[in-house]
Amino acid sequence: MLEKSAYEPVIGLEVHAQLLTKSKAFCSCSTNFGDEPNSNVCPVCLGMPGVLPVLNARVVEFAIKMGIATACSIVPRSVFARKNYFYPDLPKGYQVSQYDEPICTNGFVEIELGGGSRKKIGITRIHMEEDAGKSIHDVESDTLIDVNRCGVPLIEIVSEPDIRSPHEAYQYLHQIRQIVTYLEICDGNMEEGSLRCDANVSVRLKGESGLGTKTELKNMNSFRFVEKAIEYEVNRQIALLEEGGRVVQETLLWDSERGIAVPMRSKEEAHDYRYFPDPDLVPVLVNEEWINKVKTMLPELPAQRRDRFVETYKIPKYDADVLSTEKPLADFFEGVIASLDTKNEETYKLASNWTMTDVLRVLKEEKITVGDFPIPPAHLGSMINLIIDGTISGKMAKEVFEEMIKTKESPDAIVGRKGLVQVSDVGAIEQVVGSILAANKGQVESYLGGKQQVFGFFVGETMKAMKGKANPKIVNEVLKRKLQEYRL
Ligand code: ADP
Ligand code: ZN
Ligand code: MG
Repeated sequence: MLEKSAYEPVIGLEVHAQLLTKSKAFCSCSTNFGDEPNSNVCPVCLGMPGVLPVLNARVVEFAIKMGIATACSIVPRSVFARKNYFYPDLPKGYQVSQYDEPICTNGFVEIELGGGSRKKIGITRIHMEEDAGKSIHDVESDTLIDVNRCGVPLIEIVSEPDIRSPHEAYQYLHQIRQIVTYLEICDGNMEEGSLRCDANVSVRLKGESGLGTKTELKNMNSFRFVEKAIEYEVNRQIALLEEGGRVVQETLLWDSERGIAVPMRSKEEAHDYRYFPDPDLVPVLVNEEWINKVKTMLPELPAQRRDRFVETYKIPKYDADVLSTEKPLADFFEGVIASLDTKNEETYKLASNWTMTDVLRVLKEEKITVGDFPIPPAHLGSMINLIIDGTISGKMAKEVFEEMIKTKESPDAIVGRKGLVQVSDVGAIEQVVGSILAANKGQVESYLGGKQQVFGFFVGETMKAMKGKANPKIVNEVLKRKLQEYRL
């Protein structure tokens, strides 16, 4: 018997990303999600006899974008092929895809592995294809077909079997999602199926270089499920080998309710798709000029932005990671920074803290996206300015923040209306502190006798007397000074 740790998982992912084009891949029907079933269709996407598909140039542009962002070679001439199979939601009887001549090859993405180390995961290929329709099985005993999705463009991103753990798979998928959303070519929503992932899993003894027999996991509609399903499958394969069995090549469906993967079809039942070049579509030609034009359209990518945040704003890497996860959040953070009066490490960190903690908390609680967040970044920036210039305390800022969410007013307006101005007048604070110390002689004695905790009591009393508006920093200074005077 071998330890589980004697084995090494080998994983390759196939990720489908639905492209955010307005119209479908080969006709002008709308790709809009959620429209009346079977309303976005035409003879082309229904595969009527005699129609001719025309390739949407946007699809190629998006594929090239992804190829460049993942350091792929962009192939000058790629070919669409027909992948033949029968399924009720595929009225044409074949899916247009790319087979042996895909548009992008040989790239990589870098994933993060704790402790600052990074690892390259190879990308074998990226190809363009069309989506199939949807079968809706859960209506009584009927199956309904919605073909609106037929012909909606996808890219499929196929990784090398370079992934070595369920966690690495999670990180890889996360990276892919970040890239497609930064490029604005896919909304990255796994739950709604705009990003789909199939995982190919095998195990082998550490030190071996050959690949074991793989199984393919499907139907994982969240990042966590991908990680869990792979973990389950790795353990299953190891246990099987340890019992003297062998892994059978098959496709498995992840059942998230039961936490198990159930066989869908074995190799013997596998489809023979009888691929052949689509005679209705000409080869896709991409020249240098087009590639260069797309290059100029590329935004700053997530990894670059994260590194720039650390370098320029001196925020911790953890903060930079969180803030750069999504482009709209990163834009928000930089919007806050743009409206800071004083730009230094302290104010950058405040901008980071408020965005990471308070903004993200509200987004989570309200289940909204950054785009729907009620406070504009400039207002959050002005609020930080008020903290820095001493107008409001950190505690008052929390109140201003909540009020900005409710009323969408500027922080200045709220501070004015609610009289939330902090008292920083040293003379006024000295007066209050003086009378509090005079009224609590006993406590002063015990403080001077070494009971440090009493200091907090004095701070509390002073704040209470000043209705919470005293500048805490000045209260502390004055208290220390006055108590020192008692000592003399
Ligand atoms: P198939 O012919 O079954 O489609 P491919 O060679 O095209 O297999 O690879 C599909 C995916 O499976 C790729 O992401 C690849 O990295 C991965 N893969 C291939 N062989 C293995 C293996 N033995 N173990 C794990 N993943 C694998
Ligand atoms: Zn159509
Ligand atoms: Mg394959």
